[in-house]
Amino acid sequence: MNADRPKQRVVIAGGGTAGWLVAAALGRLLGQLIDVTLVESDEIGTIGVGESTIPTARTFHRLLGIDERAFMQATNASFKLGIAFEDWGAVGERYFHSFGVLGRSTWMADFHHIWLRARDEGDGSALGDYCFELQAAEAGRFATSDKATINYAYHLDASAYAGFLRGVAEAAGVKRIEGRIADVRQAAESGFITGLALQSGQVIEGDLFIDCTGFRGLLIEGALETGYEDWTHWLSTDSAIAVQTQATTDARPYTRAAAHRAGWQWQIPLRHRVGNGLVFASEFVSDDEAAAMLAERVDGAMLTDPRVIRFRTGRRSKAWNRNCVAFGLSSGFVEPLESTSIHLIMIGIMRLVKLFPFDGINEALVDRYNEQSQRELEGIRDFIILHYHLNRRSDSPFWSRCREMAIPDTLAQRIALFEESAQAYQDAHDLFRVDSWVQVMLGQGLEPKTHHPMARLMSRDQRRQALGDLKRNIASAVATMPSHQAFLDQYGAASPAR
Ligand SMILES: Cc1cc2nc3c(=O)[nH]c(=O)nc-3n(C[C@H](O)[C@H](O)[C@H](O)COP(=O)(O)OP(=O)(O)OC[C@H]3O[C@@H](n4cnc5c(N)ncnc54)[C@H](O)[C@@H]3O)c2cc1C
Repeated sequence: MNADRPKQRVVIAGGGTAGWLVAAALGRLLGQLIDVTLVESDEIGTIGVGESTIPTARTFHRLLGIDERAFMQATNASFKLGIAFEDWGAVGERYFHSFGVLGRSTWMADFHHIWLRARDEGDGSALGDYCFELQAAEAGRFATSDKATINYAYHLDASAYAGFLRGVAEAAGVKRIEGRIADVRQAAESGFITGLALQSGQVIEGDLFIDCTGFRGLLIEGALETGYEDWTHWLSTDSAIAVQTQATTDARPYTRAAAHRAGWQWQIPLRHRVGNGLVFASEFVSDDEAAAMLAERVDGAMLTDPRVIRFRTGRRSKAWNRNCVAFGLSSGFVEPLESTSIHLIMIGIMRLVKLFPFDGINEALVDRYNEQSQRELEGIRDFIILHYHLNRRSDSPFWSRCREMAIPDTLAQRIALFEESAQAYQDAHDLFRVDSWVQVMLGQGLEPKTHHPMARLMSRDQRRQALGDLKRNIASAVATMPSHQAFLDQYGAASPAR
């Protein structure tokens, strides 16, 4: 890097969760090397949903030096230990995808092989009995400390989160400009973006542009016409209706995802209210029907007017095109069933920091970035399709179609491998761990034909003893924990009165 060169100017378009996450990270991590400016329009506003996260958020916050208590207070956050899936495999069934580790694995075979063996012999109990986080979630208990190894994420208020991150970014020197982008200026020959012209007439020039303008993709698509790979033939939900309600019970330390006849409903308990929404396929459910279904299914009084959001599942053909990198909704969208969008923003930011084009943009750098982004998103896509495809519901054409549709080869291979030999895996680019795949495949009713023979090396008595000890240890550890609500109340400000 040439030390005499002027600082590179990074211009971020959009101030939703994506824009302010990028701004906070670039400001904190590279602020001495680059100038960062963010443009946002209060008049346009943000999407206002996106409130359930996965544990990688904690790592990201740590890298940025964010204090957990301050963050939780500012965003009215609660703790999350996983997701409860209701009515997915079949109506009336329920399973849990927790962030915890299942039992104890050996290098030769994962724990679920031992569990399958025990189950075949009529021993042992539910798989979830051997997972600490899952048991804590079901008991409504939670505690953490600097030394604790509990694996958790957060439920947070999306608007408050963007505001909190703005504070972090501005303290790190990021400049904010309020205004509506009216035009994206490009160099005639290269097509590189040179500046953003605001409605006020002001032009913000830069070297690298970050598109965080949401579904509009004002820069990456509007100006650069990058293209979009459509995945709606695999994931045909295309709408959501969201509403905030008053809390009627203590906050549960998990997200609820309850399937309905053409999609599913989320329930995200925050410290001060509950976020609710119905994801649906508009081909089968009208907006009015969705609104009626949602009203019927929420518990507390509505605090906002229900709002319909349309989306198209897929990915931007290149997340990085010329001198523009897209984050958040402008880079593509896979529906929020496993709360992966905010994670994708964070992991994308870390990748950009590592590959930052200090010495100019070159094809190899851009290709590397795009290839990694694509593989990550495809892995998540497969995991989401798995939930829809492995179903035995017979109550609607939507679920029949999900069951009968052709699925990506990558997923078909995973399903076949598990069915034949109970093997699950996590490749280098995969977000989801073996235990995640196992919980969802078994939860959706996929029964493996056999298990690893290693599970037979233990005698039946040894296995019974080991499983019994494990279950007892987990149950007694959970019993010593405070309730999630009690822990929340002493961890930072008390929860607002309901
Ligand atoms: C129904 C639904 C549920 C979701 N649930 C989850 C979840 O539980 N967990 C999760 O991780 N993710 C979830 N997501 C995804 C999550 O909401 C987004 O990834 C996240 O909010 C980032 O959004 P964004 O910043 O890209 O876009 P937005 O919030 O839409 O922000 C766009 C920004 O661009 C600005 N802008 C746009 N045009 C202009 C212009 N012309 N001039 C100036 N500024 C402009 C806007 O003012 C705004 O500041 C969900 C998404 C949907 C649709």
